[in-house]
Amino acid sequence: MGKQITTATKCVHAGYEPGKGEPRQMPIIQSTTFKYNTSDEMGRLFDLEEEGYFYSRLQNPTCDMVAARIAALEGGVGAMLTSSGQAANFFACFNICETGGHIISTASIYGGTFNLFGTTFRKMGIDVTFIDQDASEAEIEAAFRPNTKLVFGEMLSNPGLKVLDIEKFAKVAHRHGVPLVVDNTFPTPVFCRPFEWGADIVTHSTTKYMDGHGVQVGGCVVDSGNFDWEAYPDRFPGLCSPDPSYHGLTYTKKFGKMAYITKMTSQLMRDLGSVQSPQNAFYLNMGLQSLDCRVRRHNSSAMKVAEYLHDNPDVKWVNFPELADSPDHALQQKYLPEGTCGVIALALKGGREFAHRFMDALRLITIETHVADCYTCILHPAMHTHRQLTDEQLLEAGVDPDLIRLSVGLEASEDIIADIRQAIEAAKC
Ligand SMILES: *Cc1c(COP(=O)(O)O)cnc(C)c1O
Repeated sequence: MGKQITTATKCVHAGYEPGKGEPRQMPIIQSTTFKYNTSDEMGRLFDLEEEGYFYSRLQNPTCDMVAARIAALEGGVGAMLTSSGQAANFFACFNICETGGHIISTASIYGGTFNLFGTTFRKMGIDVTFIDQDASEAEIEAAFRPNTKLVFGEMLSNPGLKVLDIEKFAKVAHRHGVPLVVDNTFPTPVFCRPFEWGADIVTHSTTKYMDGHGVQVGGCVVDSGNFDWEAYPDRFPGLCSPDPSYHGLTYTKKFGKMAYITKMTSQLMRDLGSVQSPQNAFYLNMGLQSLDCRVRRHNSSAMKVAEYLHDNPDVKWVNFPELADSPDHALQQKYLPEGTCGVIALALKGGREFAHRFMDALRLITIETHVADCYTCILHPAMHTHRQLTDEQLLEAGVDPDLIRLSVGLEASEDIIADIRQAIEAAKC
């Protein structure tokens, strides 16, 4: 990439540079398989002796170009696309934490990840301890066990909008010889690059701002290449000891800084197959090209909407980290000084009944199980995404039972504010 050093430029160019007479836009290589001339050539690919494409479940050129763009945006050494954000978080953890392992996660995380950790991982014999995002270093320390393999947190939690104190979590994780995995879906690398603060692995639901148009579900795992797995061979045997499914190859020995991401593609993706399709990767590429300007617009509009809500007597509370009285404002100033995202958490006076009437009265803003695309949309987690949880579990997951999640899209902020104003008035009748 040479001189193309800024994020906005990487969004447009990283990962694909056409040669003479080649397509200006990234091509979609819509092919399951790839041709070779000799049997020996093919054999060497299966031994990971040579690099090359052979089957799109393991690697596909379009997916790799998009993964390389996201790796460049995050400042990592490599990345792998997955079929969804759920798959990304599953792969990121399972690559280094198997049955008998233990994970420490902050409790303020996306509901789907909370279920993955609390239900499915437990069924697989992986234990997860949830801790408060505001836990002190000593409290985080106390959660460690001899079999702890990683610490997990969300840079900006969905839907609570809590900001992760990465430096604090990275410090404690590294003191115990485990990596910090950060889900950076909401800020995107435009507003925060967690590796710069000590995170080791970054995950994304690319379904959100990276796609940005609500067209396809996808995910990504990025490796910083910084974690020294070899310093803890007994804790990470999957990376530091021979893999019998590749004739006894050891990932750290053969691939160095690329060990984690190579194991993930050549072993886990081979066996679990949650790939992103080349067509979807192409849509994601289009979303990434405008990511920098879109998220800045989402963020500045959300700030105007948040200020309107903040001064509205019918609003019980509003949380947007840029607001000076937001509980995580200091953390926002440190880690996300240029902006957070376009999502606002709020509660209306008058409780759930009023919230119901308000949402039904909206005209421009739509009720959707989604966030972070071009359409302004709204959801009441306790009544929708999180309705399986009791009020107590909601609070444990950092979700106030009155919380309304408003995702500010790319419409003009005046129109969004006007719709909120008329719906509040309508709900009073
Ligand atoms: C949506 C989301 C996920 C899950 O991603 P999918 O693409 O829906 O599978 C994970 N983490 C965060 C923060 C999310 O917002």
